[in-house]
Amino acid sequence: QATLGVLGGGQLGRMFVHAAQALGYRCVVLDPDAISPAGAVAESHVKADYLDPVGLAQMARDCDAITTEFENVPALALETLAGMRVVAPAAAAVAVCQDRAVEKAHFEAAGVACAPHAVITNEIELAGVDPALLPGILKTSRMGYDGKGQVRVRTPAELAAAWDDLKRVPCVLEQLLPLRAEVSVLVARGSDGQVVNYPVQQNLHRAGILAVTEVPAPAVPADVQAAAVAAARQVVQALGYVGVLCIEFFWLDDGRLVVNEMAPRPHNSGHWTMNGASVSQFEMQVRALAGLPLPEPRQHSASVMLNLLGDLWFPAGDDARTPPWDRVLALPGTHLHLYGKAEARRGRKMGHLNITADTPDAARAVAREAAVLLGLPADF
Ligand code: ATP
Ligand code: MG
Ligand code: MG
Repeated sequence: QATLGVLGGGQLGRMFVHAAQALGYRCVVLDPDAISPAGAVAESHVKADYLDPVGLAQMARDCDAITTEFENVPALALETLAGMRVVAPAAAAVAVCQDRAVEKAHFEAAGVACAPHAVITNEIELAGVDPALLPGILKTSRMGYDGKGQVRVRTPAELAAAWDDLKRVPCVLEQLLPLRAEVSVLVARGSDGQVVNYPVQQNLHRAGILAVTEVPAPAVPADVQAAAVAAARQVVQALGYVGVLCIEFFWLDDGRLVVNEMAPRPHNSGHWTMNGASVSQFEMQVRALAGLPLPEPRQHSASVMLNLLGDLWFPAGDDARTPPWDRVLALPGTHLHLYGKAEARRGRKMGHLNITADTPDAARAVAREAAVLLGLPADF
């Protein structure tokens, strides 16, 4: 029986493990924490830092192929393992996604437009920033997620102060763009070069964190969707990438489509595929890693996904409750996925609710009912 390894023990790793086990694989998870959502469901759990030589040697010994669920896993860990085992995605591709400046350069080289921006790594670059980029968003080049490591700035003085606040680490200043909608595209590429894609996903963020995904994308015309799919396929080819990758786009008020960023792994906005598509994004990642065929995924149900953050456990003050799952699950076409995290915290991703239906309107109507039951805004 073949064994697949995962670097990182979060919810994405957990859902990968479930998909791998369904296809008959054993799984080993490496994570620095003794208890993790993925480690709890894998056959074996290696508790070690990502660069610990003993932990990496154990992964190489026990696994036939290894992937990552965590885009900030040190690229060196993947590179080290690649000397001994099949590793996908490759360290070089993950490294591109770990640095916004490098990532944007890669998009431009692949002929895909991104937001007007400037790289800020020193005083001279700071002083030389084109004022036309303001108002803008200053983002740390590395390690940001869920809107962390980002500051909105209106003036050169605010920009300088924000860079100080971010400890003067390398940053990218992006022009603040008027967004008509946000979309993302999941693509998968096999080691044989075959590329498949999922339909365009429309995403609503609240406070920098994904809140709702709808597929098909209700507000985005077909030509814009086709452009997003073409751009995503182009980027994955240019990277020579193997595995599932997700690209986020902004559709602007003036009709332009620009790329925001990409994640070298299954993505929160692709969770609907667990119930709404013929092959989930996690099964697709397993197939890519294991060298199995990649079928063109088919969406069989209109889908809405609601992210379930820890805030739902604290509707009033500090006393935790269990959200009313029984009432939510009484609604037609609801599928609850909880990640087994020991403790709910505000802003923490605890699970997601997928809603499937025959039509987008029906899925949205049920999703709004579920949102109301959960105390979430029904603003989609
Ligand atoms: P993720 O959790 O998706 O990795 P992140 O922390 O890397 O998030 P971004 O995707 O860069 O952050 O930005 C988070 C959100 O902030 C975007 O989805 C969008 O809503 C908003 N945003 C980011 N950049 C811009 C921009 N240039 N103009 C307007 N809005 C933006
Ligand atoms: Mg990001
Ligand atoms: Mg993002």
